[in-house]
Amino acid sequence: MERIFELIDKLEEENCLAREEWIALLKGRSPKAAEYLFEKARKWQKKYFGNKIYTRGLIECTNFCKNDCYYCGIRRSNRSLQRYRLAKEEIMECCRLGYDLGFRTFVLQGGEDGAYSQKMLEDLVSAIKDSYEDCAITLSMGELSYERYLGLFQAGADRYLLRHETADGSHYRKLHPPELSLDNRKRCLFDLKNIGYQTGTGFMVGSPGQAPEQLAEDMMFIRELEPHMVGIGPFVPHHETPFAREPGGTVELTLFLLGLLRIMMPKLLLPATTALGTIDPMGREKGVLAGANVVMPNLSPISVRKKYELYDNKICTGDEAAESWNHLNQKMKQIGYELAVSRGDYKEEEICTM
Ligand code: SAH
Repeated sequence: MERIFELIDKLEEENCLAREEWIALLKGRSPKAAEYLFEKARKWQKKYFGNKIYTRGLIECTNFCKNDCYYCGIRRSNRSLQRYRLAKEEIMECCRLGYDLGFRTFVLQGGEDGAYSQKMLEDLVSAIKDSYEDCAITLSMGELSYERYLGLFQAGADRYLLRHETADGSHYRKLHPPELSLDNRKRCLFDLKNIGYQTGTGFMVGSPGQAPEQLAEDMMFIRELEPHMVGIGPFVPHHETPFAREPGGTVELTLFLLGLLRIMMPKLLLPATTALGTIDPMGREKGVLAGANVVMPNLSPISVRKKYELYDNKICTGDEAAESWNHLNQKMKQIGYELAVSRGDYKEEEICTM
């Protein structure tokens, strides 16, 4: 028991742990240890971000995907899904709406859709940049070549999200078909960082086959990559996937990991994810109280939201964009935080002196 508290102190002081220590900490965690951890996590969160929660407007551009990841509802083998692809004008319209609501970051996410050519994406990125000079653009379009990442960066993209999903090679094989590889996923992440993107990685919590040993690899990989952002959320089964009958991840473990990430890397951009809000109506509030400082409300046109079904029962698929913002702002205010109208960049320097 004592040992767990010592490990939390050590992580906070040294910002890293050895593999065996990670495993011991994850295996030995308890509600008391979590309470101790979250208090520390909030101290760092407050120091760097005050009571402000950064927002990113999520635009789910396409649900076409050439990949077949075993956990994902928009995998190519899901024949029952109606596919859609937003046109440039529709995406621009989402940005216009989002800007009026207060969003200063737009996240363009999608499956790996071959119909989105490099030229089309570069055009789109520069059109958004021209219209909204004070906004950041985040892309989350999967694995691309160095040249394509570079072209998109030069067109104006600021950030890129690409979760590594799991840093354990044999676990990676359990979650993905043979044509995908952890090596390429990591190559992409290091390319993105080298090009100069604010880079986000992350993983699902409680994916099939994940144990503290795998999570230890995830935490050590994150330490090695030094990303600017880490997105973690519970695995939630989707009925049309090979993992339909697998158990989902828990709120408890997700929150504990959020707390650990906050004290390991205090300036990290750490979202309280939609998946966390899906398995618990108070999930995002709990995420913020465990150290998260970002939320990503949905800005996609309502007509497509239900079709971007990564997992079952995803929340906010019927909301207007404005409802997403106001609803979340209200939720945040109830726990003493508020949404910020700001790009919410990763800051090298301390930004809050509260
Ligand atoms: N094609 C892009 C975007 C993928 S969707 C890419 O490869 O990065 C965004 C994230 O949703 C994924 O990285 C994955 O971690 C998460 N996700 C997919 N299926 C999920 C599920 N069943 N439960 C929880 N999260 C899931």
